Amino acid sequence: MKQIAIIGSTGSIGTQTLDIIRQHPDRFKATVLTAGSNIELLIAQAKEFRPNLAVIADPRHFTRLYSELTPLGIETAAGADAIADAMERHDFEMVVTATVGYSGLLPTLRAIKAGKIIALANKETLVVAGELINRSLASSASVIIPVDSEHSAIYQCLAGEDPRAVTRLIITASGGPFRNMSVAELDKVTPADALRHPNWQMGAKITIDSATMLNKAFEIIEARWLFHVPGEKIEAVVHPQSIVHSMIELRDGAVKAQLGLPDMHLPISYALGEGSRMACDQRLTLSQFHNLEFYEPDPLKFPCITLGHYALEQGGITACVINAANEIANKAFRDSAIGFKQIYEVITDTLTKIEQIATPTLDDYIAVNDLARRLAAEKVARLSSKVFISDQPISLQQS
Ligand code: NDP
Ligand code: MG
Repeated sequence: MKQIAIIGSTGSIGTQTLDIIRQHPDRFKATVLTAGSNIELLIAQAKEFRPNLAVIADPRHFTRLYSELTPLGIETAAGADAIADAMERHDFEMVVTATVGYSGLLPTLRAIKAGKIIALANKETLVVAGELINRSLASSASVIIPVDSEHSAIYQCLAGEDPRAVTRLIITASGGPFRNMSVAELDKVTPADALRHPNWQMGAKITIDSATMLNKAFEIIEARWLFHVPGEKIEAVVHPQSIVHSMIELRDGAVKAQLGLPDMHLPISYALGEGSRMACDQRLTLSQFHNLEFYEPDPLKFPCITLGHYALEQGGITACVINAANEIANKAFRDSAIGFKQIYEVITDTLTKIEQIATPTLDDYIAVNDLARRLAAEKVARLSSKVFISDQPISLQQS
């Protein structure tokens, strides 16, 4: 019986992880569940899965969590620190990092210190501080198993191969909902349009990142740190059908791919099983897919995709700044405070305002994340003629 903590159990990856745990009660037990603010779902999950601990990041919900779960013998806690502290408990060996954005970094570092197996969905952790994460892993018994579908595909393709024979990682991208639009048409797209992803059902933040294709830039950075492959050997290819989840090229010219339906249950269950495969009914019928297309991404339409290689070339805190500025810009776009194309503008404007730190410490990452968010919020305010208090916009006039 493998005991599992899920940080972000109420989200898209978190609920799909619980689906798999529900299907395999003989193999898995969820012992720690955490959420941001969705108190009702966290309580319902705790009542069903009976973890030892449930934590809510937003402390305003603590009283309710405590009063609902204490009679059931479930410990409760609140706040970001409580989520990070929970990573040192002895009642689980694996943690699924299914939280979104920068909030994954500190708990993941604590889990590495505690020697946990990390099923990593939260790519932003590697985007922000991949080098630091790898240094921490080097002095720990902890390992990372990718959950992101592209990285899971590469991980599956690498099985049995000599890593020195790998000449290229080829990451597929759906191209998002605006793949076929012109640059001019992108001026008019709304948050509702961007949230309508053609192939994947995901949380709101990553769905917007897919529409800008910053998600693919993040996945290039994620692959660099996960697989120890330099940026110049990692490329993205648009594949609108999302059937080929990614590929590796080997020195004899062979290309290995992993195929499957666009459904996260498979990569999650592969990570939970640490590579041992669990039975699943889902089958891919290739004859239903008459055209599997592949083509190069268009950086003029989707400039965010260039930020992955740029961040790797610059190193230091560059990717941390991009991530922080994007978290603000992505939310501002969802709140209709800025336009779709202005997400890139906010990120690049923030990049120009922060000095490089070549070898950042954890404290540097924390400070840079704070600063970049503040500068990005100021840029958003200038663009939108709205005043931002934290990330809640208050409209002064319509832009
Ligand atoms: P969701 O927004 O659906 O879920 C995020 C989860 O994290 C929720 O449980 C949320 O709680 C919790 N959370 C949000 N903010 C905080 C915070 N500040 N502190 C603590 N908990 C927080 O996201 P997804 O499941 O879509 O994505 C999760 C991660 O997985 C992301 O990094 C994403 O890039 C990655 N990923 C997702 C894929 C997908 O198919 N969804 C595919 C590949 C990668 P609450 O519900 O209370 O807000
Ligand atoms: Mg992905």
